[in-house]
Amino acid sequence: SPSVPDPSLNDDYIFVSVEVCLKRESTAPLNDVKEAVERMLEKRSMSYSDGLIPVPQDDIFLNENVKRIQISDTDEWAENNEVLLFWQVKPIVHVFQLSEEGPGEELSGEEMLSSFNEWDLPSREFDGMWESLIYESGLKQRLLRYAATALLFTERGVNPCVISWNRIILLHGPPGTGKTSLCKALAQKLSIRLKDRYSYCQLVEVNAHSLFSKWFSESGKLVAKLFQKIQDMVDEENNLVFVLIDEVESLAAARQAALSGSEPSDSIRVVNALLTQMDKLKSWPNVIILTTSNITCAIDIAFVDRADIKAYIGPPTLQARYQILRSCLEELLRTGILTYSKLPTLPSYLTLKERLSTIEKHSDEGKSVEIPRLLLEAAELSEGLSGRTLRKLPFLAHAAVANRKCDIIRFIQTLSETASREVSELP
Ligand code: ADP
Repeated sequence: SPSVPDPSLNDDYIFVSVEVCLKRESTAPLNDVKEAVERMLEKRSMSYSDGLIPVPQDDIFLNENVKRIQISDTDEWAENNEVLLFWQVKPIVHVFQLSEEGPGEELSGEEMLSSFNEWDLPSREFDGMWESLIYESGLKQRLLRYAATALLFTERGVNPCVISWNRIILLHGPPGTGKTSLCKALAQKLSIRLKDRYSYCQLVEVNAHSLFSKWFSESGKLVAKLFQKIQDMVDEENNLVFVLIDEVESLAAARQAALSGSEPSDSIRVVNALLTQMDKLKSWPNVIILTTSNITCAIDIAFVDRADIKAYIGPPTLQARYQILRSCLEELLRTGILTYSKLPTLPSYLTLKERLSTIEKHSDEGKSVEIPRLLLEAAELSEGLSGRTLRKLPFLAHAAVANRKCDIIRFIQTLSETASREVSELP
């Protein structure tokens, strides 16, 4: 038999997270499932790449309890679509069950509802979000590692006067590039990957805009109540709390407006209360503050200007645009809205590029890449569009194609036309 290096002897193997999502109705202890999955992985000599790992049919226990086993983010390690071979990999198994509850309404009162949302993590609402967000390679993984390192430093009691770091993340860039979604997805991922350390995770989303609307004269009390609640959670060291503040620049702007007298003073008190509370909160070890901003210049708010993790999130690159449109097309094929008799799976951007460079344009083989090639064209025409607009294009294109039964080639051509129109309307 071929000699395969023993992973225990190989000290430079790669850690890959294997995420195991339990069925809603499963009551199996997480640890039992974890061990069963580890045994299953040991038995398989499979390669590791992003996607689902099928559960063997004869494994009754896993089939009963597990909804899916999934790997994401191996692309960080594997270049150019290479796969990781099993002996290079040390799988780290994370077992979790999704919380079914939507945004919490505990802090009731109609006003409260629109200024704060809270979710227990991992939540069904954010399931699949991380995978659906497409950026240049390594961006998401970098964020994940930053956050995990920050928590580790805290946990080990690294003296912040010696090595300075904090748990504040700022994502900035143009609107519609997925910043808010990425914050939520990051919180969800961390809640899954750090399950062993933090048994309970929660995300609180503060809607900064609504806080200083004149309708929120009661907001001061609500802010106090919210932070009391967050404080109670944070007191328990096994809890991990994410606080998300969207469009933080609006807080600074509101303060500025107050100074010039154009903002009602009530709302300013609320903003100030919020900022003070955030400043206090950031010293707690089990809190991560996630913020987004649509402006790229410095933001005049104490707790963000010290953010260690500042990432610029720009409009999607060609590769990302192709992958986003590809995922849209796959969804339309999955749901039967588009049909195509012999469609092989659509190649990834890199695979397509490689194939295009090796085949003659009009040879027989050229035919096999006709569809992905058209899709690539649509992606090229979409330069400058945000991820949000890209995800709307297929809808607009479908509405523009009148026929009920929609030919895929025709559809992609319409997609291109729609993209061109959207681009021409960019400011
Ligand atoms: P922002 O906070 O930057 O304004 P959002 O998080 O509200 O952006 O993004 C809106 C939607 O646009 C996301 O839910 C996602 O569906 C889509 N989107 C934006 N950027 C991307 C991307 N890079 N990859 C995939 N989808 C994206």
